[in-house]
Amino acid sequence: MHTTRIDTDTHETVLRVEDAEAGLTGFIAIHSTARGPAAGGLRMRPYGSEDEALEDVLRLSRGMTLKNAAADLPLGGGKAVILGDPAQKTEAQLRAFARAIDGLAGRYWTAEDMGMSPADMAVIRGETRYVAGLDEGAHASGDPSPVTARGVFYAMRVAAAQRWGSPVLQGRRVAIQGLGHVGWHLAKLLRAAGADLIVSDMDAERAAWAATSFGAEVVAPEAILSVPCDILAPCAVGGVLTQDSVAGVQAEIVCGAANNQLADDAAGDALRARGILYVPDYVANAGGIVNVATEILGLADRRRFVSDKLAALRVMTARILARSEAEAVSPHRVADDVVAERLLRHDSAA
Ligand code: NAD
Repeated sequence: MHTTRIDTDTHETVLRVEDAEAGLTGFIAIHSTARGPAAGGLRMRPYGSEDEALEDVLRLSRGMTLKNAAADLPLGGGKAVILGDPAQKTEAQLRAFARAIDGLAGRYWTAEDMGMSPADMAVIRGETRYVAGLDEGAHASGDPSPVTARGVFYAMRVAAAQRWGSPVLQGRRVAIQGLGHVGWHLAKLLRAAGADLIVSDMDAERAAWAATSFGAEVVAPEAILSVPCDILAPCAVGGVLTQDSVAGVQAEIVCGAANNQLADDAAGDALRARGILYVPDYVANAGGIVNVATEILGLADRRRFVSDKLAALRVMTARILARSEAEAVSPHRVADDVVAERLLRHDSAA
């Protein structure tokens, strides 16, 4: 395994990781350690090119700085990606990548993201201690997805209260794009709250199973973003909200788990211009990293910490949405401002 540094003006450290024998190519990006060790998941995807993977890791690691600050965690932002099909991942790839993480001596902590599982994290643990999201061991926090889903569900209630004057989701039509780790848990929570579900997944079997489990209506992947509904929950991949796709959205609220849902700032402004309330992704989906943080920080009372942080995130969401309306500025811009203020306060206190 060998690592090559990539120069950037925007990030503290970016490494390209390669192990020819293991068939591994990947990147680790540390955006900021100003608030603490950089933390963020490891994603494996069949990227179209190395440039695409690098762009993803740079964007995602910056997003983690914002998300960790939004959740007021003593953690900075980082992320890692491996190029390839997760169905074909090997132990040798994970071990080689783990050695690269270990070489950063705790400046970056990893956990699971798309294409990774707690079992993969256990393999990585064989080479480095700087990994969380494990199923076993002191302070193990397991799969963060159920907590992420809980956070998204609470954020939807806050948005509903802002939009309709009541947080109650009973009888609301909620469209979920992606029924993976988070989407499935979210569907469960929403169904238990009496919402009616419309779902879509690239995996038709998963979507069919949701129809059976939750009485959900299934639509084709290309139809989900523009389906008539009250709330749209993007829970698959990033970049789905473009100026084009926003023009077709028929929901009154957009609130989901996917990272980087907005293709650009203009897409967020287009949502606001159409009167659609958007809950900034990194505020809605911060539950997962809060759960992971209990393991990184070695906290004994995980449940208490998680519920306190989720409560604080609810308050923050409500403030962002209220300020957005009062100042006539898109919620994603308000969220960026609020977090930038928090980062600045931290810098001046340090
Ligand atoms: P996952 O890989 O388990 O699930 C994603 C699902 O989306 C899969 O079932 C996939 O088939 C489906 N999908 C992909 N493209 C689709 C499309 N165009 N239309 C419909 N379905 C599609 O991932 P996950 O862990 O559930 O995470 C979902 C999103 O939430 C990701 O963007 C992830 O980065 C983000 N997120 C996850 C967590 C977490 O705790 N897992 C935390 C924060 C953010």
